Amino acid sequence: MSNGQHNRVRWIAALRRLRPAVRAVAQARATIRVKIVLAFLATATLTTAFGAYAVHNIGVTGGLMTATFDQVLISLDYARAAAADFAGLQAAMARQQATGAPAEPSIGALAVQVQDDLRIAAERSLSADARVAAGQATAALAAFMDAIGTQPGLPVAWSVLDRHAAQVNDSVDQLVNLTSGDGFRHRQAAKALIVQSRLVDGVATVVLVLVSALVAVLLSRQIMGPVRAACAAARRIAAGEWAASIPAHLTRGRDELGALLAAMEVMRTNIATMMAQEVSLRRVAQIRLADAIGTSREGVLVVDAAGAVVVANPRLIRLFPALAAPAGACLPDVLALEPLLGCAGDICLPGGTWLRISRSETQDGGAVAIYSDITALKQREWELQSTNECFDAALSNMSQGLCLFDAQDRLRVSNPQFAALYGIDPALLRPGTPYTWIMAAKTALGQMTESDAAAHAALRLGAGPGAFLHHLPDGRAIAISHEPLPGGGWVRTYEDVSERRRAEAQVHHLARHDAVTGLPNRLVLAEHVEQAAARPRAGFALLALGLHDFKIVSDMFGYAVADAVLRRVAERLVAAMGDGDLATRPGTDEFAVLLTNVRTPEEASTRAAQLQNAMAAPFTIEGRDVAIGISLGIALAPADGDTCDPLLRHADLALDRARTEGRNTFRFFETAMDERLQGRRQLEADLQHALARDELELFYQPCVDLAAGRVCGFEALLRWRHPERGMVPPGAFIPVAEASGLIVAIGAWVVHRACQEAVKWPAGLRVAVNVSPLQFASPALLECVASALARSGLAPARLELEVTETVLLRDDGATRATLHQLRALGLRIAMDDFGTGYSSLSYLRSFPFDKIKIDQSFVRSLHDAPGSAAIIRAITGLGTTLGMRTTVEGVETSAELDAVRAAGCDEIQGYFFSRPVPAGQVAELVDDISGRLRVPAQPAVPLPTAPHARAARPTPAAASAIPAI
Ligand code: C2E
Ligand code: MG
Ligand code: MG
Repeated sequence: MSNGQHNRVRWIAALRRLRPAVRAVAQARATIRVKIVLAFLATATLTTAFGAYAVHNIGVTGGLMTATFDQVLISLDYARAAAADFAGLQAAMARQQATGAPAEPSIGALAVQVQDDLRIAAERSLSADARVAAGQATAALAAFMDAIGTQPGLPVAWSVLDRHAAQVNDSVDQLVNLTSGDGFRHRQAAKALIVQSRLVDGVATVVLVLVSALVAVLLSRQIMGPVRAACAAARRIAAGEWAASIPAHLTRGRDELGALLAAMEVMRTNIATMMAQEVSLRRVAQIRLADAIGTSREGVLVVDAAGAVVVANPRLIRLFPALAAPAGACLPDVLALEPLLGCAGDICLPGGTWLRISRSETQDGGAVAIYSDITALKQREWELQSTNECFDAALSNMSQGLCLFDAQDRLRVSNPQFAALYGIDPALLRPGTPYTWIMAAKTALGQMTESDAAAHAALRLGAGPGAFLHHLPDGRAIAISHEPLPGGGWVRTYEDVSERRRAEAQVHHLARHDAVTGLPNRLVLAEHVEQAAARPRAGFALLALGLHDFKIVSDMFGYAVADAVLRRVAERLVAAMGDGDLATRPGTDEFAVLLTNVRTPEEASTRAAQLQNAMAAPFTIEGRDVAIGISLGIALAPADGDTCDPLLRHADLALDRARTEGRNTFRFFETAMDERLQGRRQLEADLQHALARDELELFYQPCVDLAAGRVCGFEALLRWRHPERGMVPPGAFIPVAEASGLIVAIGAWVVHRACQEAVKWPAGLRVAVNVSPLQFASPALLECVASALARSGLAPARLELEVTETVLLRDDGATRATLHQLRALGLRIAMDDFGTGYSSLSYLRSFPFDKIKIDQSFVRSLHDAPGSAAIIRAITGLGTTLGMRTTVEGVETSAELDAVRAAGCDEIQGYFFSRPVPAGQVAELVDDISGRLRVPAQPAVPLPTAPHARAARPTPAAASAIPAI
């Protein structure tokens, strides 16, 4: 098998091995890439095959050329050299034979050279015939050389030599001929091969060009057709021709273009569907939009670029009827409100309707304007603004600080009071400030202890409302009220309650202490008594302490000094207290002392004496020495009680006893005292019914005008005819009536009864009625007197009201006003018991009394105190100066009568003329006294004693005990 055949077989085998891969490619999806690759592979394979074939031919041609030149020509060259060298050899052998001298070079060397030439020529020869000819020449040479022999000079057989030489030359010539023939054949073969190659290359080139063209055609048919279809489809899609579908055969292609077209077809279908839906939706939307615009509560105006009205909905036409012009009319023509379209914002129409105009440009250069009726909104805005202003005003003017936080603990609202309360920089309290920042600010200001912070946190974390009292280091107390808000926020109010708490503490203190002295009051005393009583076997005593002459001090120096005295007494009492003792002021007119560790009366006496000693020294107040004596009533626990009330009551009873028995004394409680108290209470109970049971009656004591020498009137003096006690004097029951308030009703009865009696008397007689200071506290007094006068018909000038200076003691203006009103009724006002107080002279100035009744104590002391006559004289002189008549009470004897007459007194009242008598004896008494006054006075002889007067002046006690006639 030749080389060419061998190569063909190898190619076929290689192609066969590629067959599965080609089949796999064919079965794979015939994509454009695969098609291009296949086309490339096909053309490349053909090109490679033809190239390989050409290369092979060139190689073969080269081989032939190489063999021609490298083998044939060299072999030919050496064959010819062998012929030349053999000729030289023959010439040398001829010369040697001729000369006998050895040839130079030697014949042997020349023979070797011929042999080498033949050998190389044989080696390079391309045919066996040439190599055979070379061998024959070599053999003939050897025979030639043998025929020459080895000894030069010896004779040679020339015939033999010639024959051998001819053989050599023949063989060499044959060699040359064969070699030349070989060279010619190779040249011819190469030439034939070149011709063949040229032919094949030309054919192959043509084939390749054709195949490439075919591939290009196929590829263009495979690719360009669908690409054109895809371009056309894309153009149609781009042009919006959704209806034209891509031919189905194009979309079924298995390559990329097929997929692209299929996808484009899907895309076209989808877009067409979407467009259809879009169109449908747009139609629906347009219908809805039209509906919406038509029924919109907002006015809608659409104008085009030229200003023509495109749309004006009914609402807008209602607002601007001029817009009812046909659509398309130019806005300025139909509506003088063109500026409306140009403006955006809120406007107010002449009718008061507020419109909010929002305007936007359309793409075609026109405009759309929406007109919203915001009249209600404006109204709400104003209301809201007003509310906000009120809210701000309330926030700013409320007394509390306020903070409102949202659910994220950020400040929403706070008022200036909050910043001021805590001294926080108001700049920090902007809305949005976290709660923690504010707390940090408070902490930085030193206002937050750990417990404060914990309390604040507890308020914040608590589910419901809470409160906390925040005590600041500067002593202020801030009441914090925490209230959660719906939605997670919370509000806190901060109120500085320092003053309130101080006031509460003060109120609490005042509720438990006396305001003047600061001593604990009855409440505290009761607690201490309870505590003392709870201690077993620890006796204690309660002492009621009364001040002597305190009223005098008060009257003389006024309330300020009196209060100062009370405070100084309290100070000394407190100083005298031992451990566990307590000085208190349970009432306005008393002190009480709880002495602990007192078991026996002796111990109590010792302590009482100590207290009296402590008070012995006078108090120096405002430069004055004021001496105050004290009396003490002592109640011992548990014998006299083990709780505060009975102990205090018993101590008070003992004090009453001590008071009546002298200054600076003390008395222990005795059961009899309690009995007296019970008796007094019974009296009070009986007095309640005295009026209803008609047990009261009036006695009348005459008043004699010295100058006129006649009875000028009677003083009505109350009497109680008690069914069991007999006649009770006023001194025994009037204080009870005053204490119980019954004096108002009783006093009214007295006025009415006195007027009714007096109206029966002769016209010149007046009636005097005593009026209690407590009656002045009742606004009914004026009406009562007026009605008594009216009902009785008594001339007002015949009625005289007697008041004591106590009335003026508590004068608050109202009393004097009442006095003036009474005076205005036409009656007379007399000051009774003048001289018993110390401020009487100033009282005389404060009201123009008609009469001064000098207290009987001056008459009582006429004999003992020489100054009394002088006082009576001074008072009568004063009365004369002031235009007031003077009456001296309590004149019992003619000596006293003379004395007071000498003192210049105007009128006399006393037992000397008569004791108080029942109403029925008034007329008789008037006659009797008149008769007596007509008897000329005998200076040396005492005046005849009045029928009811006693010869000797009774003691005051006896006098008060004398029952009425
Ligand atoms: P008073 O208004 O100063 O009345 C004078 C008192 O002195 C009367 O006592 C009278 O009986 C008494 N008296 C008159 N002359 C003498 C005398 O020569 N020697 C002595 N030792 N006493 C004489 P009475 O009736 O016991 O009244 C005492 C006080 O009771 C009255 O003092 C008056 O303040 C008060 N009183 C009497 N009746 C009423 C009344 O109707 N209303 C009020 N509010 N008080 C009355
Ligand atoms: Mg009187
Ligand atoms: Mg009197």
